[in-house]
Amino acid sequence: MAEIVIHNLRKDFGDFTAVRSSSFKIADGEFFMLLGPSGCGKTTTLRMIAGLELPTSGEIFIDGEEVGQKPASQRDIAFVFQMFALYPHMNVRKNISYPLVSQGMPRAEIREKVAEVARILGIESIIDRPVGGLSGGDRQRVALGRAIVRNPKCFLMDEPLGALDAEFRERMAEELRALHDRMGATTVYVTHDQLEAMQMGDKIVVMNHGAIEQFGTPRDIYDKPATMFVADFIGSPSMNFLKFHGSLEAGATEVRLHHQTLGVPVLREPFDGDMVYGVRPEHVRLSDAAGYRGEVIATEYLGTTQIVTLKSPNGEVKARIASDQVARVGETVGLDFNSATVTLFDDQSGRAIR
Ligand code: ATP
Repeated sequence: MAEIVIHNLRKDFGDFTAVRSSSFKIADGEFFMLLGPSGCGKTTTLRMIAGLELPTSGEIFIDGEEVGQKPASQRDIAFVFQMFALYPHMNVRKNISYPLVSQGMPRAEIREKVAEVARILGIESIIDRPVGGLSGGDRQRVALGRAIVRNPKCFLMDEPLGALDAEFRERMAEELRALHDRMGATTVYVTHDQLEAMQMGDKIVVMNHGAIEQFGTPRDIYDKPATMFVADFIGSPSMNFLKFHGSLEAGATEVRLHHQTLGVPVLREPFDGDMVYGVRPEHVRLSDAAGYRGEVIATEYLGTTQIVTLKSPNGEVKARIASDQVARVGETVGLDFNSATVTLFDDQSGRAIR
């Protein structure tokens, strides 16, 4: 197992900066997600941890040892690329044994290790089958088997479930997480899928344009987004943003939007200027008693809940409400916001005001 510390890591490709001044810590045994949109620098970060790309500056510590400029072969790490990268002409056993054979491990020991891995992954019954004819799920398991058989300190995975359809993806995500819980090896996992990150991760780093927007547990990131980018990227539908202008004192618990008073969590610092009132759809209720009003412009039925889209004086609002509650397009209703869950943002910097 391994603790990984990233300090001021930077990667330039010519005059383009792919990763700028990243710092974070991955605890021993953690399932750690690097999350962000395409091109934000997550793969480059992972490749630097693996030793497949050398940092322009900054340090990478694995168990206290600085390895930033060391080649991949000198870091005890297994990189799981696309899980389908198997040798199709070999059977399952040979695919899984391959890393040990190339290390020159004695045959009897290899047999034992492969048997153990097959048991962990539940693929004993297909061990002598050629991988060419296997289902997608079994191939994923074999690819994983090949990564875990070396018993590395750490696993690095780059969108391993990217090629799978939705239903299957969810099942493999659960299996991967369960496997991690059994083995306990530190895992760094790249994804652009916020649901996957929330579902599997102990900790998440959210990246954007090469920089870290936020680092924390899934709950921290969902409930206390540090920036509008994070609030928008995590959650579906994403957080509602209502723009307004105001002047707030430290200790304030209310804001004024379109002549109505709305609650906010206690503000620590004063703020004056353009702000954004951020509230998640599940924290919006339709209530006749509420003074802040919006017109229903669309409803989307989702089974147990529905998403109601409303036009409010400060922008569009989506509310996730029970599907048996009546909301008719064209009617004007009161909007009640759960103030304890609200995040205020500085509209200019996009950062949360706390
Ligand atoms: P994706 O999910 O699309 O792979 P990502 O967040 O993993 O996105 P990276 O692959 O890390 O992003 O790439 C970050 C940026 O760096 C991109 O703009 C990419 O074009 C650029 N980049 C990556 N590798 C190189 C390279 N070898 N030379 C030049 N630019 C590169």
